[in-house]
Amino acid sequence: MKIVVLIKEVPDTWGERRLSLETGLVERAASAPVLDEIDERAVEAALAFADAHPGTEVAVVAMAPASAVATIRKALAMGATSALHVVDDALRGADLLLTAEVLAAAIRRVGFDLVLAGNLSTDGGGGVVPAMVAEMLDAPQLTGLSTLEITDDAVSGDRVSDAGTMRVSAPLPAVVSITEAMPEGRFTTFKGIMAAKKKPFETVDAGDLGVAPEDAATARYIMLSVAERPPRQAGTKIVDEGDAGERLAAFLLAEGVA
Ligand SMILES: Cc1cc2nc3c(=O)[nH]c(=O)nc-3n(C[C@H](O)[C@H](O)[C@H](O)COP(=O)(O)OP(=O)(O)OC[C@H]3O[C@@H](n4cnc5c(N)ncnc54)[C@H](O)[C@@H]3O)c2cc1C
Repeated sequence: MKIVVLIKEVPDTWGERRLSLETGLVERAASAPVLDEIDERAVEAALAFADAHPGTEVAVVAMAPASAVATIRKALAMGATSALHVVDDALRGADLLLTAEVLAAAIRRVGFDLVLAGNLSTDGGGGVVPAMVAEMLDAPQLTGLSTLEITDDAVSGDRVSDAGTMRVSAPLPAVVSITEAMPEGRFTTFKGIMAAKKKPFETVDAGDLGVAPEDAATARYIMLSVAERPPRQAGTKIVDEGDAGERLAAFLLAEGVA
């Protein structure tokens, strides 16, 4: 079984995060880069299966700036078998469609029985890359799974929605995205970090994958403007001096809530 996990480097969720008002891109220098936590969970899901099924290969694939090597190595230190890093300045600012095209080509190069991804990245937050990748690979997709069972020829899990929980299944090869309900990624060990240095790590550009970013530039979306979110307004605090109930009701009425 070969499981490909899509991993993305993102600015630290707990650090300061800023968008460049000139390019609309994340200011990557503003906070420490990390492996997206949701993707750590996807790596964990693959490794948990590999632990119980010796011979399973777990390959991680990332499209990220050249500086992301350490982040990708973290997935190898967790236990992944190999890594493919797509680096190309022409992919800077890639939109969702181009990203999916590049990732699908990278997955084809690696080969796969199952692709695992996060359902939504912490920075871009598009939430559609896994579905697009599935379409391009002509593989069934199970998105937003909160549980996962993998067998030799199928994958299944629970998909929770506002209305209830669906039990879904697909034959392999398939593409799956998981939610934060899945277990957290394991810690890396010193042994794992040392072993990661010797694991296969391939670096390719868009041309190696047969993708020409510039050819399709006009068909892609263009950012027209970007603005910072306005600072939060201070809320209204009601201190109880015997009349808090009345003041709260008056406040809600004035806001049109009640
Ligand atoms: C040179 C360079 C610079 C870049 N600069 C930026 C930047 O400034 N800001 C930014 O947001 N993105 C940047 N990217 C990455 C790329 O543009 C985004 O990954 C893409 O737009 C995906 O959008 P999303 O995160 O909203 O996807 P979502 O659909 O929210 O992602 C869902 C899941 O898809 C998978 N996935 C998504 N993107 C990638 C990826 N790149 N590699 C592997 N798996 C992935 C992950 O499993 C993720 O959890 C850069 C890439 C390169 C090569």
